[in-house]
Amino acid sequence: MKLLEDRIRKDGKIKEGNVLKVDSFLNHQMDVKLFHEIGLEFKRRFEGQEINKILTIEASGIGIACVVAEVFDVPVVFAKKTQTKNIAGEVYRTQVESFTHGRVYDIIVSREFLGKEDKVLLIDDFLANGKALEGLSTLVQDSGAELVGAGVVIEKGFQVGGQIIRDKGIHLESLAIVESMDDKTGTIVFREQ
Ligand code: 5GP
Repeated sequence: MKLLEDRIRKDGKIKEGNVLKVDSFLNHQMDVKLFHEIGLEFKRRFEGQEINKILTIEASGIGIACVVAEVFDVPVVFAKKTQTKNIAGEVYRTQVESFTHGRVYDIIVSREFLGKEDKVLLIDDFLANGKALEGLSTLVQDSGAELVGAGVVIEKGFQVGGQIIRDKGIHLESLAIVESMDDKTGTIVFREQ
């Protein structure tokens, strides 16, 4: 998505440890007009697929997922990160290792909001090692819902997540795929799509 790639080149900041900071339009301050264009692009890429729910993970996926859900005209659910022990049977629960914080935490979704009648599109801001999307797809599987696909705004193509998710047979759409980035020169190379 050209608009997105241009914006990443203009405002993205490359940090040590393979981290791309896009705090000025995606992860802290949010450019909702750009989010709307992102929503339209996902709608185009998943055209003809029946989707009745968007699922994301807190916190940074929520803003984007909300705008995408409005474009798809479906509800959005976010998996909560939690340490509390909910009563067994109330929630679907799995564990996710955080890329940015390097620790493992539980994520939950209430059984009330995900079930076998749902056809789910996963949405997240970044794809790195694939742990967040794997965790979300486990919750979908446990609920008996159908996983239609996953949409991420920025995939870091030099990390393993994209390969892992595609190898599972999940229809993955990434709007910008960073092939390489160099924190010394500030150069970002995108994969041709
Ligand atoms: P994964 O689970 O695929 O390893 O990492 C995806 C999650 O880690 C995303 O939800 C995102 O919040 C965070 N993340 C991974 N890489 C980056 C990055 O380069 N920049 C930012 N801002 N977040 C990232």
